[in-house]
Amino acid sequence: MRIARFSIDGNVAFGAVEGDSPDDLVIDIIKGIPFGDFELSGTKVPLAADRDNRVRLLPPVLPNKVVAFGRNYAEHAAELGNEVPDAPFAFFKPSTSVIGDGDPIVYPSFSQEVHHEAELAVVIGRMCREVPRERVADVILGYTCANDVTARDVQKREKQWARAKGFDSSCPLGPWVETGIDLKRAQDLGIQCTVNGEQRQLGSTAQMTHSIEDLIVNITEAMTLLPGDVVLTGTPAGVGPLNVGDEVAVTIEGIGTLTNKVIKRG
Ligand code: ZN
Repeated sequence: MRIARFSIDGNVAFGAVEGDSPDDLVIDIIKGIPFGDFELSGTKVPLAADRDNRVRLLPPVLPNKVVAFGRNYAEHAAELGNEVPDAPFAFFKPSTSVIGDGDPIVYPSFSQEVHHEAELAVVIGRMCREVPRERVADVILGYTCANDVTARDVQKREKQWARAKGFDSSCPLGPWVETGIDLKRAQDLGIQCTVNGEQRQLGSTAQMTHSIEDLIVNITEAMTLLPGDVVLTGTPAGVGPLNVGDEVAVTIEGIGTLTNKVIKRG
């Protein structure tokens, strides 16, 4: 099931996205929230063919925190001259960095080198800590596409990455959460990034150095994850610059495409 969060006539709701053709999608509105048991209402609204713009996709979850792992694909670590770490290492992107499909990435005033990083995002479904490997699948609601947008020049000159990776609009997520992918398949998905239709990154989640299980075990040793929290799993090789006016798209096999345009600060 593809679970979207959306606004309709100014109200916010979750819904299950149905249909195959991008022009023909409908949302079956969920009663309540999609954590734990929930029901579909049977009330359906069109998504794409909605000319009056009554329905708009929002970030699929509102995370309390986004935990991101660095240098988790060997080729990407090498392209920036870094070693692959022996153990996973995490950093945060704040909740205020999150935007949804179609929302603009606002180029930050303090950077001249902003990069895209296509990543598989794991969406947490239940409160958890100290999760053992064999329980990791139980705490995952599903998967979505992410772009770990990074001010690379700032990342290089500042020890902590709070500004480089935490600025407003630096965490596009979406378009929805796919719940029908099991952990094994999540570890074998094609992942691609295009800029203005031109391919920049192409890889597979099979290339991760530390698996999704490793990452969830690692972070929950330290902290509690809450429903809706998001774990970013690293980016394959091919990161590169984004400029004002660019359209960047992250596509993950079996999930969908997350598209955002880069705009100048207004
Ligand atoms: Zn990243």
